[in-house]
Amino acid sequence: MVPEVTILGERTAELTLPGGCPICQGDVQLRMSPDGAHTFCAACHVITKAKVAFGQDGVVLTPARPAEA
Ligand SMILES: [Zn+2]
Repeated sequence: MVPEVTILGERTAELTLPGGCPICQGDVQLRMSPDGAHTFCAACHVITKAKVAFGQDGVVLTPARPAEA
């Protein structure tokens, strides 16, 4: 699976990760910028920081702790 990446600017990119939400397993928007990676779930509105790496199977998302707010 290759996520479709939207380049928002020189240093910012966004893509959708189907089933990437650690809370509800919904689709999340993953935004990568110089500040790091964040995911936003449109279903439950949870924002999490995430570690993103590129593995053999493509983008590997490692969610940090679920939002504590
Ligand atoms: Zn969710």
